[in-house]
Amino acid sequence: MASTIKLDVVTPERVVYSEDVDMVIARSLDGDLGILANHAPVIAALKIGILRIKKDNRFSHLAVSGGGFMEVSPEKITILADSAEKPGEIDLERAKAAKDRAEKRLSTPREDIDQTRAEAALRRAVTRLETIDRERS
Ligand code: ATP
Repeated sequence: MASTIKLDVVTPERVVYSEDVDMVIARSLDGDLGILANHAPVIAALKIGILRIKKDNRFSHLAVSGGGFMEVSPEKITILADSAEKPGEIDLERAKAAKDRAEKRLSTPREDIDQTRAEAALRRAVTRLETIDRERS
């Protein structure tokens, strides 16, 4: 039986990642899901968060933002999301600015500010910053 599984991470704009990997740990709405080759079929909605990928005995990370879901078959994992980035693709200053903006919006509640939208923007920004940190550590 195969010991690797194909992982495709796709957004409306591009294929972000497409490789054979050893394991994927994804943040689903029901908790973290670890997926190895030959996993039973699953469909899961994903949280905004870091996707952990094990390949050749090391972990790498992707920031996965918004509307994500994952389809698993024994040979393949497909993740679809509004956006996803590798650490090297993340603009640190842009993510910091997005975090500051969202925090300001959340700390001064006003009727014309959509709190849910600001919370999601904050989660995206924090996920991007953490993805850069993970890769450095
Ligand atoms: P911002 O407020 O900075 O636009 P956002 O969280 O609202 O951030 P998204 O709607 O999640 O941005 O993403 C829009 C597009 O911009 C996507 O293609 C995403 O990959 C890209 N993107 C967003 N933030 C960054 C970043 N910090 N570095 C690189 N690409 C980013």
